[in-house]
Amino acid sequence: MTHILHRQIHGTLPVAVAGRGVELFDRDGRAYIDASGGAAVSCLGHGHPDVIGALHEQADRLAYAHTGFFTSEPAEELADMLVANAPTGISHVYFVSGGSEAVEAALKMARQYFVEKGEPQRRAIIARHQSYHGNTLGALAAGGNAMRRAQFQPLLAETQHIEPCYAYRHRRDDESEEEYGLRVAQGLEDKIQELGAETVMAFIAEPVVGATAGAVPAVPGYLKRVREICDRHGVLLILDEVMCGMGRTGTLHACTQDGVAPDLMTIAKGLGGGYQPIGAVLLSQAIFDAFATGSGLFQHGHTYIGHPVACAAALAVQRVIERDGLLENVRTMGERLRSLLAERLGPHPHVGDLRGRGLFLGLEIVEDRATKAPFDPALKLHARIKQAAMARGLLVYPAGGTIDGARGDHVLVAPPFIVEDQDLDRIADRLGTAIDEAVA
Ligand code: PMP
Repeated sequence: MTHILHRQIHGTLPVAVAGRGVELFDRDGRAYIDASGGAAVSCLGHGHPDVIGALHEQADRLAYAHTGFFTSEPAEELADMLVANAPTGISHVYFVSGGSEAVEAALKMARQYFVEKGEPQRRAIIARHQSYHGNTLGALAAGGNAMRRAQFQPLLAETQHIEPCYAYRHRRDDESEEEYGLRVAQGLEDKIQELGAETVMAFIAEPVVGATAGAVPAVPGYLKRVREICDRHGVLLILDEVMCGMGRTGTLHACTQDGVAPDLMTIAKGLGGGYQPIGAVLLSQAIFDAFATGSGLFQHGHTYIGHPVACAAALAVQRVIERDGLLENVRTMGERLRSLLAERLGPHPHVGDLRGRGLFLGLEIVEDRATKAPFDPALKLHARIKQAAMARGLLVYPAGGTIDGARGDHVLVAPPFIVEDQDLDRIADRLGTAIDEAVA
């Protein structure tokens, strides 16, 4: 009998007791290949000695110092590293403890930016239908996930939602992918016009959609057009890279592959790789300057911002990725995993799409391969696949269906960056069997 209230009221869950490399172990001695890194969190796998060493050392030396009184070495070094490797224009970092807090802080930064600039009427947020940006009330208000929002209406800040960019769903013969991207981006222009640019604060989107749709990259040209539209109307662009960022797609930030730099970027999950709860907002010089020349302070704060042990863990994770050239591994192993999945599951009668970037791949499960018609959501196929995979010792992340993501069922595959060839074979085999069993 557990007294822990999880997000879902779980039945019986296995008790995780240990993790080593790409595997997790439960109390009954069963091993699971962690092919989702939790929810694209565990980028270095489990028990990495360099990270454990850094954690111990920092906890020994200094576990906590309030940022109202002190800064700390790991926080300063991590901020330096993040800014040095950030997209163009980013000049500062604000540390928080996770993804929702990062989105929350980014939205408040955007709001304060316009207040400092004497445009307090710019308050409207534009986001996309089905999007997920976190579960705190502000982040939830920004997100467009109807199922998650339903029980909390009315939300604190009303957001306007536009059509997302899911190339796999569009499949129109009379339009190229690029044309599709530009058409969907036009939805942002139309929405800004409708609301009046002088009332619009920010547009927020994930460059590669993760949890709600299973690793869907924006089509080429879409984000560039979005950037142009934001610039033309003085609207801030917030890119949420909480899930797709920090190397997951083969470059440190996903948006650089689209040739786009945001005004604000949120990062979390892979930043600390699961070794500590940590997230951050990366902000542009212009936003920093508005605070500096205005009230002189970002009006925000949490007890654990810049936590020394969390920053030391994240610093160690990021140094290992750099030292061991792991982004290269993400690219090569990502390509191999994609080919293996294509080989094993490409012709599968119930696999409608395989997509993603780097080690951030998604499969769409359909009832009919030809029409791409989804299964009845009541079947909860994605949940059944997760269960069947777990029974085979494989962890994959289920998406869609019951969480009102894109229609239908999706499976996200996001193994650690240290994954090796033999792991990839086992992942593809076990996932294939799990899908067969779940749809049987
Ligand atoms: N944004 C995105 C894109 C996410 O995927 C998530 C988590 N799934 C969040 C924000 C919220 O992060 P957290 O769960 O750490 O609060």
